[in-house]
Amino acid sequence: MQIRTKIAIQFTLIVALILALFSIAIYLLSANYRQKEFYNSLRDRALTTARLLIKEPQIDRQLLKVIDRNTLTTLYPAQVLVFNDSNQVAYYNYEADTVYYSPELLNRIRENRYVETAFSDKEVVGTMYQDTLSQNFVVLAQAEDVYGKQKLENIKDTMIVGYLGAVLLTILSGFFFAGSSLKPISEINEEISRITASDLRRKLDTGNNKDELATLAVNFNKMLSRLDQSFELQKSFVSNASHELRTPLAAVKSEIQVALQKERTPEEYKNVLKSLLSDNQRLIQLTNGLLQLAKSENNKEDVLTENVRIDEILFKIQEDTMHSQPKFQVNIDYEDIPEDINWVTVFAKQTLIQTVFGNLIDNACKYSDNHRADVRIKANKDNCIVSVSDTGIGIPHDEIENVFQPFYRTKNATQYKGSGIGLSICHRIVKMLDGKISVKSEVGKGSMFIVVLPHV
Ligand code: ADP
Repeated sequence: MQIRTKIAIQFTLIVALILALFSIAIYLLSANYRQKEFYNSLRDRALTTARLLIKEPQIDRQLLKVIDRNTLTTLYPAQVLVFNDSNQVAYYNYEADTVYYSPELLNRIRENRYVETAFSDKEVVGTMYQDTLSQNFVVLAQAEDVYGKQKLENIKDTMIVGYLGAVLLTILSGFFFAGSSLKPISEINEEISRITASDLRRKLDTGNNKDELATLAVNFNKMLSRLDQSFELQKSFVSNASHELRTPLAAVKSEIQVALQKERTPEEYKNVLKSLLSDNQRLIQLTNGLLQLAKSENNKEDVLTENVRIDEILFKIQEDTMHSQPKFQVNIDYEDIPEDINWVTVFAKQTLIQTVFGNLIDNACKYSDNHRADVRIKANKDNCIVSVSDTGIGIPHDEIENVFQPFYRTKNATQYKGSGIGLSICHRIVKMLDGKISVKSEVGKGSMFIVVLPHV
């Protein structure tokens, strides 16, 4: 069902319910008011007629009836009976057998002095009357409020017609208002359907910039920009990755072609194979890096798996690095390590933490002439802080922002081997662990990478 129809139906149902309650309340109040008014006039009639009957016993009852009909237009002939102490009809203006009464009712009137009740279509009022000789009588008057009931019926009819008319109007206006309030949504819908994946720069009209729809359009535009940005990133990532893979592959191809051009000595073949092995090594490293980058994009739950001691990981990296690259020197300053080991323990995946610090230490050694990395561990009540510094080539000030982008390499680092993806992997991993990575650097003096990770 369309939202427009839904809103119109809901609106109609609510208004119809309110109107129905309102109409019923008015009807019930009018009915109550009519009855009260009728009882009052009936009591007045009872006393007036009783006074006439008791004071003037010789009064002609036919005459009374005629007076009744002609003087009290709102009251149809009230039948009045006057009873003495022994429940006998002492006076009457109508024949007693056409009037409803019972000894219980008479006793109740004597007890309560005044009773209002109803019988069949008629309303009945009973009251006490004392004549000049202090004799007590029960006066009973009953009549049907034909005029009042007719008025009530008219009110009911008017209300039913008014109610149906109002509901009809509500349905029509409901459809109209729902349509006009949803019009901007339909327009946004149309605009959205015109936007395609290749056309993400297109923006929605934000209208008056004030209402909820404008906020929706603004947020949608922001989402489009983010999508556009990540599409662009994706595109440049793919082209950079293929470029990085193609270079060593092309080198391998040309090396093989050159080697095959003529007969070579076994020594020459050996050299070619060595070179191929090194290129192959580079390719493996690169694909591993790309794989890790792709993995670090995955679910956050995948990276939060175990308690990892950062000091132990650093110690292991120190050992491994110095073993595989004897030129490299890794110094770890444990002086500021807190006593509580929880302060250097993070909840993460061990291999990812290893990747982060392995890359930073490797870079520090690689980009400095003395091939030395100085590592320092500190902690405060929330975070474990590790800094990796060197006294190497440094990073030019205007490039510092870019080093965490995939495949970015600074101009002064081109003569060093590298693919430019290590730091982007570090950045993504640290971000996934809700930490921060930053760098301070000066060309010719050295760099310091600082990693802040929340500890357990
Ligand atoms: P790679 O080292 O393989 O090129 P990274 O992503 O690790 O890739 O680093 C990106 C770039 O940042 C490097 O190419 C280099 O220009 C710069 N860089 C990283 N670490 C350092 C460092 N310790 N000193 C100077 N420059 C660095």
